[in-house]
Amino acid sequence: MFKERIYNFSAGPSMLPEPVLSRVQGELLNYGGTGISVMEMSHRSKMYLDIFESVKAKLRETLDIPAGYHILFAHGGATAQFSAVPMNLLGGGCADYAITGNFAQLAANEAKKFGAVNIIYDTSDKNHTYIPRQADLKFTEGASYFHYCANNTIFGTAWDYIPDAGGVSLVSDMSSCILSEPLDVSKFGLIYAGAQKNIAPAALALLILKDGIPIKPIPTTPKVLDYNLMIKNDSMLNTPAAFNIYILGVVLDWIKSLGGLTAMQELNQAKAAVLYDFLDNSTFYNAPALKSVRSVMNVTFRTPNEALDAAFAKESAEQGLANLKGHRLVGGMRASIYNAMPIEGVKKLVEFMGGFERNNR
Ligand SMILES: *Cc1c(COP(=O)(O)O)cnc(C)c1O
Repeated sequence: MFKERIYNFSAGPSMLPEPVLSRVQGELLNYGGTGISVMEMSHRSKMYLDIFESVKAKLRETLDIPAGYHILFAHGGATAQFSAVPMNLLGGGCADYAITGNFAQLAANEAKKFGAVNIIYDTSDKNHTYIPRQADLKFTEGASYFHYCANNTIFGTAWDYIPDAGGVSLVSDMSSCILSEPLDVSKFGLIYAGAQKNIAPAALALLILKDGIPIKPIPTTPKVLDYNLMIKNDSMLNTPAAFNIYILGVVLDWIKSLGGLTAMQELNQAKAAVLYDFLDNSTFYNAPALKSVRSVMNVTFRTPNEALDAAFAKESAEQGLANLKGHRLVGGMRASIYNAMPIEGVKKLVEFMGGFERNNR
């Protein structure tokens, strides 16, 4: 039983900023004098459309999204996009995929159902602890797109550069890093992200899609996954995840209040540095990811053995440091420190880690 909110290191759904939750709570019963909750609004009503348009405008401002890009909201999280991407963009051709972790693999597996997939790099030889270099990537001439996962949530690595795929469109799953730092959107054909890490509650997906990239949905594409219909209907082919989209707007106001994505990036780097500096100076803990490509969002580490890993997860949870157990594919521990995790949480974790080390050496 906790009387206060705890530090939740879950990889997703993860923490939302406390000021966001408080504001949503304040607006929950009667939004802006409308007399109803955003949850109860018709998505076609003026009061909701005002929210919807303002969220898109705020997102465009926050991420500096160029005019030639559509902002779309979809259902089914990032996983639905693993299917929607090939259904809409393969166009009877082939696509290149880089496998740098579990979600990248899942995306490629799904794409194989719909056409030819070239795995142009796979880091599973070293358990996804590294990221290929630009020179390692041999793109297929005429490929419809190149898909990569920018931040590998489970393994704790992140691409430290935006790959240059020549004439091939870049498609990126940014579920676990979007809004954590400034981003040059103009380099991409499509960016997509599930919401439950840095955006809003789960099940919503955000798409930033370049106008004019060839969209040729296969004839059996379900309506709700068809990018042309999504664009044509401004994400309202059916009822959108209206409340989640509203929460994104509140999250964007919070990011702006802190100074936007440049400030967000500094905060995130400062948080990650507290944890990585501690890990680098420890002979007890071991952090498997290659230093130069470590994720700022998901920090993976291990104690000397599995029994201690289990004890660590249990004891930390008892102290209000929740969900530190690593993904079953990696074992050990994982601290997900997305935008909403305050630096105090990371400092408290490091303090706990020091104590745990002293008690178990
Ligand atoms: C969490 C996550 C997903 C899966 O998201 P769902 O919304 O559960 O479909 C996909 N890709 C990455 C990189 C993730 O972190």
